[in-house]
Amino acid sequence: MANQHHSKATETHSALSFSALLKGRVIVPGDADYDAARTVFHGGVDRRPSIIVRVANASDVARVVLLAQERGLELAVRGGGHSGAGHSSVEGGVVLDLRDMKDLDIDVKGCAAWAEAGLTAGEYTEATDAHGLATGFGDTGSVGIGGITLGGGIGYLVRKYGLTIDSLLAAEVVTADGQLLQTDEEHHPDLFWAIRGGGGNFGVVTRFKFRLHRVDSVVGGMLLLPATPEVIADFIAEAESAPEELSTIVNIMPAPPLPFLPAEHQGKLVMMALMAYVGEVEAGNRALEPFRKLAPPIADLIRPMRYPEMFPPEEEGYHPMAVSRTMFLDTVDRGVAESILAHLRSSTAAMRVAQLRVLGGAMARVPTEATAFAHRDSRIMVSLAAFYGLHDQAEQESWVTDFAAALRQGNDGAYVNFLGDEGAERVRAAYPGPTWERLVALKRRYDPGNLFRLNHNIPPTNPL
Ligand code: FAD
Repeated sequence: MANQHHSKATETHSALSFSALLKGRVIVPGDADYDAARTVFHGGVDRRPSIIVRVANASDVARVVLLAQERGLELAVRGGGHSGAGHSSVEGGVVLDLRDMKDLDIDVKGCAAWAEAGLTAGEYTEATDAHGLATGFGDTGSVGIGGITLGGGIGYLVRKYGLTIDSLLAAEVVTADGQLLQTDEEHHPDLFWAIRGGGGNFGVVTRFKFRLHRVDSVVGGMLLLPATPEVIADFIAEAESAPEELSTIVNIMPAPPLPFLPAEHQGKLVMMALMAYVGEVEAGNRALEPFRKLAPPIADLIRPMRYPEMFPPEEEGYHPMAVSRTMFLDTVDRGVAESILAHLRSSTAAMRVAQLRVLGGAMARVPTEATAFAHRDSRIMVSLAAFYGLHDQAEQESWVTDFAAALRQGNDGAYVNFLGDEGAERVRAAYPGPTWERLVALKRRYDPGNLFRLNHNIPPTNPL
């Protein structure tokens, strides 16, 4: 007991002396906001770091990186805190928390923005929308720009403007030796290649420079259709042949209790399509017409809107517990659609979903070897998820594993941003062919001691 008190006092003392070196804030166990500060998005993650540093600038970031090196502390890097594998927190180690770094410098004329890594996709998008400009992130505003960008970034602009990394022009990165490197196509081009898909393996990005696209007029929102095998298969076929201005995210799931939904649909499987057409309203309505004709819509909430309205409102304190699997498919025909519906029907989870995203367009035109995200020619990304409670995690794991096995079509690729804690093989699957060897060689150069290992790790040694 005496020893415990002694070590607690030493810890607090060393945290205080460390705090004097920083512009940002140090939070340790016992502080009033410690529990709030250590909470991440996923409800299944409950870790107790020994120190959380809410860094204020790049010098703070470098100090925390060196502190972790010197003291042999395990280091977690936190942006928006949405990692499905819980990588943005750590038991006992240090969390480098970027949330307070939110500067955004928009160059309207030059159509580019320097964004600090603590911004969320929603904050960034609201600010650039004021100028009729946007960079594509995902489907959710609270996701951090750091994590989503470093893994690739697949959202509502994917077919028109590619992945988020296809709009990345430059970045500033603190590497494992505490140096701040400026990186782009000309400066440290290997590092610039690696951070476009390689996740947080190579350092802490403090600022990103993104290209901004003119996104002034959007026709978007939710189209709710009956979930039949025909409607699902026809929808996917239409989405593949639609103009690239249109990107879609389809959720096949039990209808949630939405206020506008007739009672007879609630709890029954529906097809909730979130659609965004980036361009003139008339052309948008023309592109959407075939989807509206697939079946009489249960609800049609598609309308002209500002781009940030695509991000649904989020509930404060929402921390779901879910298991998931993601894969790439070549086709979703009626047989596949039937299998999706049968699995969703067989689930015991209160909420379960099969999410389908038709890819292609600008994303597919970037050469595979141009970035560390290498699944450029994948046609459809499918994510399966089941929410669990206190007692049924194993049951839902086994359901989602069987479901994924039933749908697989020979492409075992993974999307790193949608991986949970699924083991080294699945990380390897995110980086096919020569991408893996190149990443391992660069990891050896930039982080030979694997300081940045709380991520979908590319180890500097023993490549699979
Ligand atoms: P964090 O947990 O803070 O970070 C995730 C990982 O990135 C960690 O390993 C962390 O160390 C590293 N990291 C974060 N910032 C930095 C940085 N500045 N420097 C170095 N490393 C860093 N993805 C899509 O592509 N499209 C979507 O539509 C989409 N929707 C989502 C919706 C929800 C509700 C959720 C939970 C996730 C979604 N994702 C989506 C996945 C998301 O992109 C990843 O979970 C991403 O890693 C989250 O980033 P974050 O900064 O919020 O998370």
